[in-house]
Amino acid sequence: MDAARAVRAVRPGGRSAGHTGSVHMRKPSPTRTRPDASRAHASAAPLRIAMLAPPWISVPAPGYGGVESVVSTLTEELVRGGHDVTLFCAPGSVSSAHVVTLLKRSHPDEIERSLYEVDHVAQAFDRIGSASGAERFDVIHDHCGFTGLAMANRIATPLVHTLHGPFTADTAAFYARHGHKAGLVGISRAQLVSAPATLGTIEPIPNPIDLSIWPLEERKGDYVLWIGRMTPEKGPQRAIAAARAVDVPLILAGVIQPGQQAFFEREVAPHIDGKRVRFVGEVTGAAKRSLFGHARGLLMPIRWDEPFGMVMIEALACGTPVIAFREGAAPDVIVDGLTGYLVDDERGMAEAIGKLERIAGRDCRAWVSRNCDVAVVAAAYERTYRTAALRSGSSGAAGV
Ligand code: UDP
Repeated sequence: MDAARAVRAVRPGGRSAGHTGSVHMRKPSPTRTRPDASRAHASAAPLRIAMLAPPWISVPAPGYGGVESVVSTLTEELVRGGHDVTLFCAPGSVSSAHVVTLLKRSHPDEIERSLYEVDHVAQAFDRIGSASGAERFDVIHDHCGFTGLAMANRIATPLVHTLHGPFTADTAAFYARHGHKAGLVGISRAQLVSAPATLGTIEPIPNPIDLSIWPLEERKGDYVLWIGRMTPEKGPQRAIAAARAVDVPLILAGVIQPGQQAFFEREVAPHIDGKRVRFVGEVTGAAKRSLFGHARGLLMPIRWDEPFGMVMIEALACGTPVIAFREGAAPDVIVDGLTGYLVDDERGMAEAIGKLERIAGRDCRAWVSRNCDVAVVAAAYERTYRTAALRSGSSGAAGV
């Protein structure tokens, strides 16, 4: 998902307020039923799960924020499934789980600043480690940078760590050193190709999507969509070149992160004319889903080892095919000719735009439903949690 979380994250609207150490329950959404312990998957008792989100952005993300969306979607499903989930997260978060915020405020402009990550994780570990009796946790699910994994052998509760970024020379060395301390989960096969061999086999569990909030839209507009972080590797400039080559309107949506304004001004802004190329800024909620749903196709002209790519499954869920460069996890998600097209460059992308109507929206959604539906993903994580708990011999409140 996001190697660039270090520089990611400026979002209009700034930071959310919160209270240090607050614990509260949100009222369940009216469209949701309360968790039902009898629904806990597999044969065993419900689990007590400490879900450790990053401290940077509230959960769910108010706008841009892939990891926070993943954490939110998975957490809601685990609660619906009857598990007892405590979500350690940034202030301003809203969840059906028990919400515990530890820092005074979120830190969207300081992503990966160790001061905040260490403080957040250490406070969470203090609470998890001191829980006793019925309060003990069976497992920690860590989505939070590097601190939790590096310190996982200092806490008795077993830890499952989701690898949200790609393996680079630096992170591969880190994982080679500390990976044995936790159960590791990847998010795509492409990502795991670069994992250090010493880690052994790591299974991917794809990122989840809640299809009930991403409806199939079969009435398409005339435009193609690019959405994401305005960075060279995500390729808004290449999306412009491809769409212009075949004179198809393009809508660009997303965030301009710190340090990326010059790129935007140089390579994107000069092409924005309000007609053939429109820029709508950061989008959220129903407006975002409508933009995805009504697009003829999503353009994904990436030039980096993107470990997953949430926007691809969001598009497919709406029945919007994806044209992606054959990089990163795109070949894991795009079935060429069924859910979109895999291409090598802007010229290939332009040609594929002309073939978008051959793809059936229902096939796109069916693929996501089979592979990334949150029920499928939560069941896979539940098995991982139980394996981690059994291996460590831990038995928390519910036991395994
Ligand atoms: N996103 C959003 N509003 C925007 C741009 C992006 O809500 O204007 C969301 C998008 O829907 C997706 C996430 O931000 O859920 C980006 O995740 P992805 O894995 O595609 O990219 P990365 O984490 O690498 O930036």
